[in-house]
Amino acid sequence: MNKLTNKRVILITIDALRRDSLKCYGYYRNTAPNLESFINQGTIFLNAYTNGIDSPSSFSAIFSSIFPFLRGGYAPLPTQKKTFQEILKKNNILTYFIHDNPFLGKHYNYDRGFDIFFEGQLSKFSQTRKKLNKNESLKISAFSNIKKIINYQKILEKIKKCLIGFDTIRNWIVFRMYKLIEILIPYITLEYNAPLISRKVINFLKKYNKNMFLCAHFMDVHNPYNPPKRNLLRFRRENINLREKELLNTKFLMNFRRYHINKEILNNLIDLYDGEINFVDKYLLKIFKTIYSLFKKNCLIIITSDHGEAFYEHELLHHTGNIFDEILKIPLIIIELGKKENVKYVEEQVQLIDIAPTILDYFDLEIPKFFQGKSLLPLLKGKSINRDDFIISEGYQKNGEIRINENDGFKLISIRKNNWKYIFDEQSNKEYIFDLKSDPNEKINLSEDNPSILRKFRRFLRKHLQKISDTTEKAKIKEIMHKIEK
Ligand SMILES: [Zn+2]
Repeated sequence: MNKLTNKRVILITIDALRRDSLKCYGYYRNTAPNLESFINQGTIFLNAYTNGIDSPSSFSAIFSSIFPFLRGGYAPLPTQKKTFQEILKKNNILTYFIHDNPFLGKHYNYDRGFDIFFEGQLSKFSQTRKKLNKNESLKISAFSNIKKIINYQKILEKIKKCLIGFDTIRNWIVFRMYKLIEILIPYITLEYNAPLISRKVINFLKKYNKNMFLCAHFMDVHNPYNPPKRNLLRFRRENINLREKELLNTKFLMNFRRYHINKEILNNLIDLYDGEINFVDKYLLKIFKTIYSLFKKNCLIIITSDHGEAFYEHELLHHTGNIFDEILKIPLIIIELGKKENVKYVEEQVQLIDIAPTILDYFDLEIPKFFQGKSLLPLLKGKSINRDDFIISEGYQKNGEIRINENDGFKLISIRKNNWKYIFDEQSNKEYIFDLKSDPNEKINLSEDNPSILRKFRRFLRKHLQKISDTTEKAKIKEIMHKIEK
């Protein structure tokens, strides 16, 4: 790496952001006008896929460049799954991660390789597998004792319901008085939402100008959908009040299998979801403005999501035990500051495991041989990466609910090659084959009509399952060795 030039990579991930919820991917609404104006300066990957079906499976792929089930799975992230941020750290590149996703916390080892690691209240205190330090335990016991005397969280909820514009006021306070909020965060029901994350990221960027990798993960678009009125009204005439929002989120969205989801309910949910994207967009603008004012070159911005979101395409909602393309298609945009010759659109199929090699490549660091992804930098310059391999997406589920490991879940695997997609559902022992060219909405299962394609995919699946079994066994043994050596 050239020691004289400082480089930065900023990875912005928006949880549960569907590829087709952005205008640049063909959506009829301009949900994120600010983001769109910056996207225009970068390269838009038209065929990007996640390798997971939920946050931990996808982030394990982003960080390790290895398919989620290999080398001991992803929750917790096994020590044997080397992450690219560990490599960056070794090369004196500062690594920073801020998020509020309970599955990406210290509890699941997702802090590994980060110099600076912020996880929100939800992640910090909802898990206790890891030993907490004295200070943290004190905070938790104080927190629960106060709660016993006055249930202020309930009071806050009540105020929220009565007070018009509660969210707007809260977000205004959070963005402007974030230092105070930071002190209060263990005691209040406030998560790291877009105003807080953007404030912290901006302050950090202003202070630190050496080699760095920063990842900011936004949970606002993730359900429950609760955008401020202003953002919602961009997409509909009438507001949805808090009581209705609660009904939509807790009754229909979370228990959709028990109800008939009619068009009106679905449209309301989509409006709320779009409102959330619009809400995050405002804070992305603040981050982008800061980046553009501070760095004119030597900065790579990557924008993506961990998975999409379902809106009843296959009679499923949000993201739970679903491996159809409403979940697997993700947006991916890369902006290289100071480069004008980059191409606008890339058609080639790319995946989340490509992010780690791309970032190492950008820092001129060697890409480990065991990384399964490829650097995407050649694609920015109009070259090809000649991908002829299979794209795998996988995760655990049970009875349609997300599970995080094999102890209580069944494998759900999708294998994609060119226009063909194969799905294996371990629990039901069902297989599906879709010709995505003629059937992009995955409605016609061709597994019985196309034995030669089925054979091809089964052969590949067998190899993959064998690899999972071999590498998991090895990972388990290495994990034990690691503990003994400690
Ligand atoms: Zn997620």
